[in-house]
Amino acid sequence: MTGTGSIWLTGARVIDGVGGDVERAAIEVVDGRIAGVHPGETPPIPADATVVDVAGRTVLPGLIDAHVHLSSYDRLPPILRGEAPRDPALRIFDLANGARGLLAGGITTVRDVGSEDDHALLLREAIRLGLTPGPRVLTCGRILSATAPGGVIFGSMYREADGPDEMRKAVREQIRRGADFIKIMSTGARSVVFEDPEPAQVTRDELRAVIDEAHRMGRRVAAHAEGLGGARLAVEEGVDTIEHGLSLHRAPDLLDAMASAGTVLVPTLTTVHDVAATHADHYPEVLVEQAKRQRDDAYLTLIAAHAAGVTLAMGFDSWPPGGNALELVRMVEGGLPAMDALVAATRGGAAACGLDDLGVVAPGAIADLVVVDGDPLADAAILTDPGRIRLVLQAGVVVAGSAGPVGPLR
Ligand SMILES: [Zn+2]
Repeated sequence: MTGTGSIWLTGARVIDGVGGDVERAAIEVVDGRIAGVHPGETPPIPADATVVDVAGRTVLPGLIDAHVHLSSYDRLPPILRGEAPRDPALRIFDLANGARGLLAGGITTVRDVGSEDDHALLLREAIRLGLTPGPRVLTCGRILSATAPGGVIFGSMYREADGPDEMRKAVREQIRRGADFIKIMSTGARSVVFEDPEPAQVTRDELRAVIDEAHRMGRRVAAHAEGLGGARLAVEEGVDTIEHGLSLHRAPDLLDAMASAGTVLVPTLTTVHDVAATHADHYPEVLVEQAKRQRDDAYLTLIAAHAAGVTLAMGFDSWPPGGNALELVRMVEGGLPAMDALVAATRGGAAACGLDDLGVVAPGAIADLVVVDGDPLADAAILTDPGRIRLVLQAGVVVAGSAGPVGPLR
């Protein structure tokens, strides 16, 4: 920030994040928040203000990715024969690199739905202390799961628990560790050979205990739900977000219930592409075949949920960090109107996070803003090109962007 003066972005073509009309306006930022959005003629600007002319560009709210795994951005090259074992502490630098990559992609907030070794908690703290730039991080701490095959594979990403009392204790443990919200595996995972993603993997009593404890303590609950068994339990017991929700197109009653309760769906189309095709060589054949079926389901659910009026949030659930808007592109390719896909990546993400003052360009909102070259409504893919993401502001501070130094803002 630059002293006490305000920041003005002038000549912007503003996409407000909530689906309002696109209009040319000047955006006034004071103390990290949007103080005014002035359409039409720019009003007199105070002499001590910093003015950034963004004419011809589009301004939208900082993008929100509602489904990331921050510790999965492992970009360290494999250890070759003869090389010394690698110090695990190097992963911390990798995490910081990932955080910078997210900002360069216009992602100013992420909801981490499970990382190894407390990495998301560490990164959140490092960003808060100003040790490294990065998006605002909300994290679940460890993922709650019944004793299940995934626990063998995901190790420190999981907290296995069985029975309502142990589940309740597991929630309390995450809150003690600093979790912003709670995540529970209500079904198995498509990425685990010995898990069946169709049936519920917890009992109703277990899920009820988790939601009761979390909500009483002011934490939201995200449920991993691929098959309908787990999705039904989760919706009926009142979770706040459904992750994946691939099979929901087969249960219109559940989609209606989600729409009226405000339960957010995070469709994560990219992750089924990953297992079915993009990264298929990393997975056993049986999982690849399953993912191909799930990919079809995911797109059917996207459209059915949209038609039912369910709030959607963008969740990439993939890598590299900063390429997250590929999920937005896939939403559009899947038939979502471009404006609605953008809303999923802004206001929808804020709804998933339970953050009221994010994901919108309006007076009073936190000034997380992205300036892009071109019109993402005409071509959503420009949001996947860091070269076209000119400027990224987080709470009114420039944190990334290809524009380079921007006067005293830097
Ligand atoms: Zn995930």
